[in-house]
Amino acid sequence: MPQSHKHHHHRGAVFLAGAGPGDPELLTLRALRLLKQADVIVYDHLVAPAILALARRGAQRIYAGKERGNHTMPQDEINALLVKLARAGHRVVRLKGGDPLIFGRGGEEAEALARSNVYFEIVPGITAASGVAAYAGIPLTHRDCAHACIFVAGHLKNGSVDLDWPALARPAQTIVVYMGLLGLPVLSRELIAHGLPAAMPAAIVQQGTSASQRVVTGTLESLPRLALTAGLHAPTLIIVGEVVRLREKLNWFVPPEDRGEGAALEAARLSSAATAAAVEPSAPPQISPLRRAM
Ligand code: SAH
Repeated sequence: MPQSHKHHHHRGAVFLAGAGPGDPELLTLRALRLLKQADVIVYDHLVAPAILALARRGAQRIYAGKERGNHTMPQDEINALLVKLARAGHRVVRLKGGDPLIFGRGGEEAEALARSNVYFEIVPGITAASGVAAYAGIPLTHRDCAHACIFVAGHLKNGSVDLDWPALARPAQTIVVYMGLLGLPVLSRELIAHGLPAAMPAAIVQQGTSASQRVVTGTLESLPRLALTAGLHAPTLIIVGEVVRLREKLNWFVPPEDRGEGAALEAARLSSAATAAAVEPSAPPQISPLRRAM
């Protein structure tokens, strides 16, 4: 343990924690424990209300925002806020969607804390790629068809997407694109231009792992049009590769909103503080409501 650790109650500390992709039960035990002990929680746009509901009742909650084009708080201000709160002696949980160090600027926040000599810890979370793919029934790697998997940020800058296309268009590789919805037409065009088959299976998942998860599958060529027709909105994750085909066999998660009857229990699990009770289950987890009749 670092020397400063035993004093952190008095001196303040920042826990840079991942909240996972949506389903509150994908939170780590460590993140849950810290939420229950926090004085202040500084949270992002992507953190599900059901997860915030698990925090200590008296904890102060500060929204730090960051939707596209609506930056509630600039990054410098967030960094300064974390430092200030810790110096005031608070136990701060800096809660971010997914994993704090994957496309979430968590690295920059940790740097700011280190620079200011604030005690901090990093609590990893399930990143969208891993959580969303699992709930969509898409293995990111597979012995038969994907020996590598690459995560990229696909946001549009000046009408274009700046990525290393030849590196992405390699065979036997799964591509996961974060923040890629607006850039999807460019992505599709460039990957085909750099040699991936137009018929390569591709999927886009909106709000994966949540009660409102939507999955659209198609090909590299058809996906932009299909996503448009479906009227998808952020957050979405794009997965490109042969592995997408496996969803036909492995699609196990049917979000309650698509199920109607018998879905109330699962809806409650995904969207309310009922999760708090499930943390200490008295009965074995329910299997049937999650399983689709195949
Ligand atoms: N740190 C986060 C990513 C932050 S960037 C992580 O590790 O997951 C935000 C992007 O993540 C979104 O634009 C979207 O591309 C993706 N994302 C996060 N949660 C998601 C979800 N539940 N479903 C689909 N995409 C998600």
